[in-house]
Amino acid sequence: MIVSTDAIVLRSMKYGDTSKIVTLYSRKYGKIRVMAKGARTSKNKFGASLEPMVHSSVVMYKKEHRDLHLLSNCEIASPFLGLNDDGGKMAIGLAMIELVNMVMHDEEENQPMYTLLLESLRAVDESGRNPENIFFAFELRMAEIFGYGLNIQRCARCGRSLLNEQATAFAYILLASGSGVCSDCHKEHNVGGVKVSLGILQSLSRLSAAPIRSISDEPISRSMQGEMLALLQTYLKYHIEGVRTLRSLSLFTNV
Ligand SMILES: [Zn+2]
Repeated sequence: MIVSTDAIVLRSMKYGDTSKIVTLYSRKYGKIRVMAKGARTSKNKFGASLEPMVHSSVVMYKKEHRDLHLLSNCEIASPFLGLNDDGGKMAIGLAMIELVNMVMHDEEENQPMYTLLLESLRAVDESGRNPENIFFAFELRMAEIFGYGLNIQRCARCGRSLLNEQATAFAYILLASGSGVCSDCHKEHNVGGVKVSLGILQSLSRLSAAPIRSISDEPISRSMQGEMLALLQTYLKYHIEGVRTLRSLSLFTNV
């Protein structure tokens, strides 16, 4: 069956002397693998549409009960020009596609996840001062899509707001529920959890509420970025099967 969809290229591998096997994250079919015959010859009809992070329009011959399909046509749908010109932005985009490739199962449509990835790559491409923020917002929204959104506005025990207090004070995030607990309740009930500064909680809350395109201007210090990165990785690993440490994060030069 000939089908068409748009997709983000997650991964591209050489195959034989002239071809590639490409992993796509597609709008209609989720993660899907295709054979791109002739993609490494001088007559390559696919151009640059099979490079990682590219948003492409795809036509393929989709075979029933097979996990490798035949790419028939592929063209760039919208170029993310900034992602390849800026090492920091590229690292962030690569970390996003690496994470999606790790956790999404083959051929499961997931429109919210597709839209999130596409919008996030676009936002990084167009971002201003702090493109790292978009990666944190991406992880927060991904956790929500999987049903594990953080709930950190108020202490889960006493109901006290965690967002209006001194940023230097501390609270705790309970990994299992994603809830925040104030330090008094933590002491009293001995509930465990990961200790975080309220400054981090407040930033996380702003990053999850604001439109993804406008958050790269949110000022977050580098030490806080480092803490957020570690916290969100721990949280995602706890809840989502398949999450491992991201190789691309070592390229996160600013964190
Ligand atoms: Zn409390």
